[in-house]
Amino acid sequence: MTPADGNDPARAGYHDAAMADARLTFDVLARDGAARTGRLTTAHGSVATPAFVAVATQASLKSVPPETVDATGTQLLFANTYHLYLRPGAEVVAAHGGLHRFMAWDGPILTDSGGFQVFSLGAGIEHGVGKVASIFPGEGDAAPAGPPARPGGGLVRVSEDEVEFTSHVDGSRHVFTPERSIAVQRALGADVVLAFDECTSPLHDEAYTAASAARTHRWAERSLRAFVESPPRHGYPQALYGVVQGGAFEAVRRASAREIASMQVDGQGFDGLAIGGNLGDTREAMYRVLDWTVPELPDGPPRHLLGIGDVPSVFEAVERGVDTFDSVAPTRNARNGGVLRRFDDDGTPLASFRTNLKNARFRDDLRPIDEACTCSTCRRFSRAYLRHLLKANEQLGQQLATVHNLHFMADLMREIREAIDAGRFADLKRAWLAPDGAVSDRA
Ligand SMILES: [Zn+2]
Repeated sequence: MTPADGNDPARAGYHDAAMADARLTFDVLARDGAARTGRLTTAHGSVATPAFVAVATQASLKSVPPETVDATGTQLLFANTYHLYLRPGAEVVAAHGGLHRFMAWDGPILTDSGGFQVFSLGAGIEHGVGKVASIFPGEGDAAPAGPPARPGGGLVRVSEDEVEFTSHVDGSRHVFTPERSIAVQRALGADVVLAFDECTSPLHDEAYTAASAARTHRWAERSLRAFVESPPRHGYPQALYGVVQGGAFEAVRRASAREIASMQVDGQGFDGLAIGGNLGDTREAMYRVLDWTVPELPDGPPRHLLGIGDVPSVFEAVERGVDTFDSVAPTRNARNGGVLRRFDDDGTPLASFRTNLKNARFRDDLRPIDEACTCSTCRRFSRAYLRHLLKANEQLGQQLATVHNLHFMADLMREIREAIDAGRFADLKRAWLAPDGAVSDRA
């Protein structure tokens, strides 16, 4: 972003010398209902929003090198603090000068606080409903629910001060606190880092969820204080987002949104607001959570929705005023042969927005995944070749399918931004989700 782009120089972002201390800027550029386009400017460049954030769990989009990720139109990446803390260790990343140099990605990067994996790889495993298994356990593809949580037992031990957990890598015991999470995220050096929070599961009742949200608020304040009191380690500013919790309970969600949005330490608040935790066990429940939460948030800061990235949810979240969201789904599905498409070959809309390339009907299909797609995979390779690679467990098949899905998401987000700018978002949403006039946003 340069001063030449015509916006108010006072809001031109940290590249402007006068704003050298700004951690992040967000400018709303157009509105269509509650949906909005914007420009999010970080220490590593600007992102046009609404934007999909691809998840590079281990500082890697699996088999896809960073220049190839960039060519798909992907604007920003999300890496996982828990995984990188355990392996290779935050100081190994810090020795490179942070994640950008470590993974050779010069664009914006977000990290989570570690809290989600601590709970989903511990408590979530105990419940059988971790978000890792399925974001919407009520929609049928989750692992069977296990016994209820055993607070204080098993893999994760939560107290007021800290969370003690067992490494899924080698079984070693570790302790995370809000302060520790911020220190690790300072070492990793992402442009946007998250406050440490407790993630509840859909099996937790309202009383537990409310008590947990209250603890998350105390941890948010400790995270904010640790952030304010610690300088960046790699010579560029980082920004901190607070995380709204509250499960699928209206009163808890609304209170959490107000609390996190208004929190201040030494006159400084959060640079952005994330909506996290248990979002309910169906898409409709998640939409309700957004209906309660977003109206409680101030208009200025950017809003991130954690762990959501399927096509219907993207439209519904953008419609409610969400600016960015991350999900492993497009890349994980690709590795299993699930490629994103809007229409089937006969022109009928695909309710699931994807096709399994491993299907036998593609064995001798010489067409690309999508004739209209301009990604490097569709320009060069047939479905038959991709199916062959995937069936033979050739890593190239996973890479090529991932490239297509990242390109699909980037294209979808560009189309959404153009529609908001033109004041026709509702038309675009209807065309994608209910092409025959039916309400059919269930896969
Ligand atoms: Zn393609």
